[in-house]
This record gives sequence, structure tokens and C-alpha cells, in this order.
Amino acid sequence: MSTIFSKIVRGEIPCHKVAESEDYLAFLDINPLAKGHTLVIPKEETDYIFDLDDELLAGLMVFSKKVAKAIKARIACNRVGVTVIGLEVPHAHVHLVPINVMNDINFSKKKLEYTQEELAAIAADIGGFFRP
Ligand code: AMP
Repeated sequence: MSTIFSKIVRGEIPCHKVAESEDYLAFLDINPLAKGHTLVIPKEETDYIFDLDDELLAGLMVFSKKVAKAIKARIACNRVGVTVIGLEVPHAHVHLVPINVMNDINFSKKKLEYTQEELAAIAADIGGFFRP
């Protein structure tokens, strides 16, 4: 069975897209820890990030770097934290979370709530600063 992220890649369910390339997709986390919390995935479905082949893994990191720069350009923060968890969705993904203090990237924290309109505006704003 394909993952929810593969369904997003195929356009079967919606997402708030931040950036896309032939091999990768970045979109806002639906339950964000912080404004601008973004997920970056390889379009090809693989569960565990360290099962990706070297080239795809390296490309995922380089694509994540470009997305993080766009996030930093638009969201006030000390830096963009990078985390891989993968306990919920079995499709490799990188979390990019704007942070100021350690607790900002505590995944046990209560998640923020935004309207669909607010998420769309945040994604468009960050996406406008993405440079391939
Ligand atoms: P984890 O697999 O533990 O890294 O967590 C998966 C992350 O994906 C969580 O932060 C969820 O909020 C997020 N998530 C799950 N479904 C969606 C979705 N349809 N769109 C965006 N983010 C999602």
C-alpha cells in the first residue's frame, strides 16, 4: 500500500507545496511545531531514510538545504533545525523546523494550528524564496 506522502506526490491528496524538483518535494507539515515547519521527501517511496541509495540521500540533503534557506529568508528564527524521525509515516522525510530555543523542536510539544488559508499563504511565501 502506498504511503500518504506518495499520494501527495501523485496529487491524490492535497498539500501546501513549498518547492519541487524532479526527484524531491517539500511541503508544510500539517501539524507544525513552528510556523514554516516543512517536510522534504524523495518522490520515490522508501520507508527508512538510510535505505536510500547514496545519490538520492545526498540529493535530499542538498534539496533540504535550499528549502531551509528559503525558510530562513521568510521566517524569523535563529536557524532552521533539521530532524529525521519517521515513526509515523513510512516514507523517508526530513523535518525542517524554524527554531530559536531547544524546546522549539521538541516533537512531544503541542502542535500549532493554522487554517488552510494561512498554511497556503506561508507555503507560497517560503516557496517564493526557493532557488533551485
Ligand atoms: P514522523 O514520521 O514521525 O516523522 O512524522 C510524520 C510527520 O508528517 C508528522 O509531523 C505529521 O504531522 C506529518 N504529516 C502526516 N500527514 C501529513 C500530511 N498529509 N501532510 C503534511 N504533513 C503530514
